[in-house]
Amino acid sequence: MALIVQKYGGTSVGSVERIQNVAQRVKRWRDQGDQVVVVVSAMSGETDRLIGLAKAIQNPPNPRELDVIMATGEQVTIGLLAMALDGIGCPSRSYTGGQVQVLTDSAHNKARIRDIEGANIRADLDAGRVVVVAGFQGVDEQGNITTLGRGGSDTSAVAVAAALSADECQIYTDVDGVYTTDPRVEPRARKLDRITFEEMLEMASLGSKVLQIRSVEFAGKYKVPLRVLSSLEEGEGTLISLEEDAVEQAVISGIAFARDEAKLTILGVPDQPGVAYKILGPIADANIEVDMIIQNIAADEATTDFTFTVHRNDYQRALAILKDTAEAMAARQVTGDDRIAKISIVGVGMRSHAGIASKMFAALAKEGINIRMISTSEIKISVVVDEKYLELAVRALHSAFELDKTA
Ligand code: ADP
Ligand code: ASP
Ligand code: MG
Repeated sequence: MALIVQKYGGTSVGSVERIQNVAQRVKRWRDQGDQVVVVVSAMSGETDRLIGLAKAIQNPPNPRELDVIMATGEQVTIGLLAMALDGIGCPSRSYTGGQVQVLTDSAHNKARIRDIEGANIRADLDAGRVVVVAGFQGVDEQGNITTLGRGGSDTSAVAVAAALSADECQIYTDVDGVYTTDPRVEPRARKLDRITFEEMLEMASLGSKVLQIRSVEFAGKYKVPLRVLSSLEEGEGTLISLEEDAVEQAVISGIAFARDEAKLTILGVPDQPGVAYKILGPIADANIEVDMIIQNIAADEATTDFTFTVHRNDYQRALAILKDTAEAMAARQVTGDDRIAKISIVGVGMRSHAGIASKMFAALAKEGINIRMISTSEIKISVVVDEKYLELAVRALHSAFELDKTA
């Protein structure tokens, strides 16, 4: 007998029929003798709808109240799934995050899980019930409802799996696994049977929304075996492997991209100690996350240009702050662009192979795509390009690195 945590995403519970399909799947596992905890998302489109409602009343919405509103999406799904299970003779019980006691910090809209009380869940499992838990939501120490950030049900599932020392956490979604890149952008993308945890972490943090990054972090930290698979088709999906040796070593495993980036440049700032701090300090104080940073030495060697990227949602705020900074520092000019995208190639094989960057740049040059920024780490290379080239760049790189062919 195994203890399995299964998570079903928005599309997988997007209609009454789909919820009934999920119930059938869950029952099959239970009938096989496994103990099953199911974590569900809101029905597809529901979270966006709720955010829209909130914004129609107050924009930007009060973060605490927004959590109260958004959390209702998942509460509906748990109730419906529990009823569907009941209807096919599979005893179950639904729980909100607060009822389980998914304890989080108080950072509304992006809370982090601190602890999960497993006792309730265990008691139900031991009594032969399937436990249905609302993803995406928790409760802070004061009893306020919190949510974990978009895509957060993945993290709820992995955290529940960790708390229960589950044998496997299965993320059921609308694709049958993790692909070499988003199949919606490159139809020739290939499903990976396995990907290392480290690569998955990079892919997620560089924009692959198939798994929320925190879910991957959790899986690594607590050694939770994690698998991504389809809720509609049968198959083995993709195993996020904790052992690197077991994985066939392609040099590049995948391509991730993020559309929602923006870049800002401050030109002609004095080149002296403390400059980076003066520029980025106020940005950090405004709680704006900075991603890539580049500093150039200008030709006159007395001044420098400084460029960084932020999430597109933070662009206007960052621009206003940077303009104030520029004035205070007597900088020459501030420029910005919120129509950029970041594309990254990821692979642990990069550690032992030279020439990957030049191959990447050559492939982009061949398509006439201008690279606006570059950043590298041990297992990834990222470039910033104009957003209009995103699809073209992803496909060009996919084919240059022959990702459609089995390694
Ligand atoms: P869910 O609602 O089940 O959580 P998501 O929409 O969050 O589903 O994640 C699944 C989607 O992730 C897929 O439909 C796919 O378009 C996208 N995606 C992005 N990158 C990848 C990738 N490398 N492999 C598979 N899917 C990806
Ligand atoms: N329903 C939430 C969202 O749309 C959480 C999730 O689907 O994982 O972001
Ligand atoms: Mg998701």
